[in-house]
Amino acid sequence: MPLLALGIEGTAHTVGVGIVDETCRVLANVYDMVKPEKGGIHPREAANHHAEAVVPLIRKAADLAAIDLGDLDVVAFSQGPGLGPCLRTVATAARALALTLHRPIIGVNHCVAHLEIGRGVTAAKDPVLLYVSGGNTQVIAFARGRYRVFGETLDIGIGNMLDKFARECGLPFPGGPILEKFARDGNRLLTLPYSVKGMDVAFSGMLTAALALRKQGASMEDLAFSIQEVAFAMLTEVTERAMAHLDNGEVLLGGGVARNKRLQEMVGRMALDRGAAMFVPPGDLCIDNGAMIAWTGLQMYRGGVRMAVADTIVNQRYRTDEVAVTWR
Ligand code: AMP
Ligand code: MG
Repeated sequence: MPLLALGIEGTAHTVGVGIVDETCRVLANVYDMVKPEKGGIHPREAANHHAEAVVPLIRKAADLAAIDLGDLDVVAFSQGPGLGPCLRTVATAARALALTLHRPIIGVNHCVAHLEIGRGVTAAKDPVLLYVSGGNTQVIAFARGRYRVFGETLDIGIGNMLDKFARECGLPFPGGPILEKFARDGNRLLTLPYSVKGMDVAFSGMLTAALALRKQGASMEDLAFSIQEVAFAMLTEVTERAMAHLDNGEVLLGGGVARNKRLQEMVGRMALDRGAAMFVPPGDLCIDNGAMIAWTGLQMYRGGVRMAVADTIVNQRYRTDEVAVTWR
């Protein structure tokens, strides 16, 4: 029997449960997302939502995978970075499950999991990851035993910028996919700040400028188009620079914004021009999901990582390069 892991994700708006085997076959990957009716995500409300959703999701995942929870070999959970109340809720669920089943528990770094699931389900071997999600925006690659952050946002995540802009314009959450649709009908490139500082990017100036243009009457189509063109060009530039610096011929996309077809097109074009290859996992594995936590936890376990319950305290500011990567 191949080893089986169950992973619980819950760093922010999404609580997810995935079950994966040691060949990275995804047997189940179910989730539930908080969608605030007004305003942004409130950490405590999101945590309450996760607390109610997590047990039914565990049952649903086991049903879909057609396994008994007793068949599991490892229980993994997202240990950080993320919102404290959400992290503590899923950590508590994972501890309860692991202790009940008498199985090892592994806390997983969420950003590392985005990269590992991409390596697991695509042909990418040692890629530069462009990780673009709601709260995070980082360019990550493996170097000297760790996943190192080569560039990142200096303020808000790209997804956050898209969602906030959409919200201020009266659109529901999540705004990213809605803006992608508007952008298809845009044809005027409006002037927005292009903020690349060395290997880092910043998005709050763009958000302010785009909202000001909206007040002056710019169309949603042109604004969505311009935001995408400028923001994605910034991301493509820093990703290319990391690839050049590392002499790396693989780029992997991850995070919810990686579902965006225009971003895929721009990064894909850059890769083609460099003779490099681009890899994009299926959409359900790009967004926050339990399968990526299960898969990373399983590899950590196979790489010899063991954690006592005392080691499973959550870390809201868990840095990608804090993790000693012993499994590759
Ligand atoms: P994550 O935080 O990784 O779960 O991803 C959620 C984020 O991805 C939200 O900010 C969404 O607005 C964003 N997102 C999802 N689909 C798209 C898309 N097609 N284009 C742009 N952003 C997207
Ligand atoms: Mg994420």
